[in-house]
Amino acid sequence: MLLSLRHLAKPAIFLALAAVLGTTGCERKEPMAERRFRILVEENTRLIAAVRAQDPNYLAAGYDETADSGEGGYSPEGMRILTAANAELRAILAGRDRARALEANKTVRAEIERQVAAIRGLEFKQPVDYQVLNRKEIKQTVAGKLSDVFSEKEFHDMTEALAALGLLPAGFPLREKYIDLLGEQIAAFYDQHTHKLYMYEDASLDNAQNRVVLAHELTHALQDQHFGLKALPLEIKTNDDRAAAASALVEGDATLVMSEYMLKNMSKQMLKDSVVSSFTQNMKQLETAPRYLREMLVFPYLRGQEFCASLFGAGDYAAVSRAYAEPPSSSAQILHPQKYLARPREEPIAIAWPDTRVRGEKPISDNCVGEMGIRILFTEWLDAATAERAAAGWRGDRYLYFAGGQALVWKTVWSSAEEAAEFFAAEQQLLAKRHASPEPRTAPGSYAADAPRTLRLRQTAAHEVILIDTAHADWLPALEALP
Ligand SMILES: [Zn+2]
Repeated sequence: MLLSLRHLAKPAIFLALAAVLGTTGCERKEPMAERRFRILVEENTRLIAAVRAQDPNYLAAGYDETADSGEGGYSPEGMRILTAANAELRAILAGRDRARALEANKTVRAEIERQVAAIRGLEFKQPVDYQVLNRKEIKQTVAGKLSDVFSEKEFHDMTEALAALGLLPAGFPLREKYIDLLGEQIAAFYDQHTHKLYMYEDASLDNAQNRVVLAHELTHALQDQHFGLKALPLEIKTNDDRAAAASALVEGDATLVMSEYMLKNMSKQMLKDSVVSSFTQNMKQLETAPRYLREMLVFPYLRGQEFCASLFGAGDYAAVSRAYAEPPSSSAQILHPQKYLARPREEPIAIAWPDTRVRGEKPISDNCVGEMGIRILFTEWLDAATAERAAAGWRGDRYLYFAGGQALVWKTVWSSAEEAAEFFAAEQQLLAKRHASPEPRTAPGSYAADAPRTLRLRQTAAHEVILIDTAHADWLPALEALP
């Protein structure tokens, strides 16, 4: 439709050009201007030939062939018209190239849809709704999706609490960085709210990597049509760990299908190039992001794929499909699929605080770090081996952050006294390193410091470890009364 409209608009310009060239030949010609004019005329001839090669009927009626021979000679008006005409001809050619690419994409898309359905063992119930976006529109859509879910204030509060835990630098522009990361990397994405598959317009399906990305996104369309992605706790605001686990099912499933698609369609060399380049490209853009953001973005894909591979091993894709009815509830279940597969399933222990107000103030953040978050925290402040050991044995956690007291209360529960002690030791090390308090008081299962912040860390008989961290010592009694 767009093309036929352009087509109708053209001949008028060329008729005008013919008239100008035919009637305004000048006697005295400036050599430089004349040269530029010649070049424009030659370019015009080439562009018209290119446009006609694609559409022989284009400009056929009423167009004067002698006009573009340049015999009319140079005139400022002729220059102006030729420049404009050439720009429009180039736009027509670019538009047709894009239309051809989109048409070619359609055929390739249908073939990828067929393969994805066959691999996943699910049929598309209705045609996939494709939307093609440019880079700016992708960023706008990503930003719009984010602000539909989280307000500016929620982003701010989230950042403040994560900074208090030691997971993000204070004042980190989380929302902006997130949009940058997603907006720049995405070749395609699926939106469970609009049920549309968005593709970046320059992501040609001639490119093997883009075909692989499409196989991944088409799996999301299948998931949505069969299981309803909106029903999953992907955007739950009070339990980041549960949201990460649900995301790991969805992304892990799609990554597993994508991997199988790659194996079926690519030579070994292409496979190697594609995997290496897709990861190095993503990693480069992720490099400058804080560890927490980086690892939580990658977690659903890498760990989720391993989790889904375990389900697949236990019962093929049917087992993966069944998981949508009872999605994994913690990153611990994703990291250790046996916790999810066990009967009864090892579910997180809920931490109940009937009233979360302290000194009459409601927390600005009430959330859960989870085993993966704890691993990231200790990897950042200590080392990866200590982190993995300290985070294992996680059974539940919950934190509250109060803006007025700049106060954090974080309660964790562990499967045994030994597991609790490992976490306690790692957190104590972190606090000592982070705050360098001058005179900390330590005893078995207890760590306390009063400067520069008021810190209390203790392990209880119930395999719990409780951290209180506040900038205002007068908040301590009220905070201690909470757990
Ligand atoms: Zn995905």
